[in-house]
Amino acid sequence: MLEQTLVILKPDAYARSLTGEIIARFERCGLRLEQIRISRGEHAIIEDHYPRDDEWLTGVGGKTLADYERLGISAKEKIGTDDAAEIGRTVRRWLVDFLGSGPLVPMVLSGNRAIETVRKLVGNTLPVAAAPGTIRGDYSSDSADLANDQSRPVRNLIHASGDPEEAAREIKLWFPGLA
Ligand code: ADP
Repeated sequence: MLEQTLVILKPDAYARSLTGEIIARFERCGLRLEQIRISRGEHAIIEDHYPRDDEWLTGVGGKTLADYERLGISAKEKIGTDDAAEIGRTVRRWLVDFLGSGPLVPMVLSGNRAIETVRKLVGNTLPVAAAPGTIRGDYSSDSADLANDQSRPVRNLIHASGDPEEAAREIKLWFPGLA
């Protein structure tokens, strides 16, 4: 059976009218659009979208710390803490606010190893580090240090499920009617 994955075009992608171009890239690679809608004001779903467990929070915070270290930036000076879970909680709050700030486009894509294929096309979490040819690398140069200066999440256009468990949970959350 072909694998399914959940993709969300975030408000920055919608506001920049990149919806069609991004979907075309997925389709060009052989992925099939199974479900799609424009979502407005679905705050309860957005609130449940990003996990609340320590593992997830520490993971997101850890990536931020690693990036700061690479740039020689002090996390304590920049965002007031160098605790990974606390940074994760701050980023999560910014993300929930950002996803609720404008229309977004959730969709289910299917295809051979769809999760891996989508993540490859999407590229690195931080657009500044995303390779040319990837969606984030081609359409943005945003970075964590700039975003955090402005107390906002990195605007990287897309959310894409990271593994099969995440995909199953997210598809059920955004498209509860699917078997
Ligand atoms: P991905 O979306 O690539 O799976 P993560 O799950 O690690 O990445 O992070 C979720 C989202 O949080 C990212 O897509 C990005 O928008 C935002 N984000 C991650 N790290 C930071 C950060 N240091 N500062 C601001 N936003 C961040």
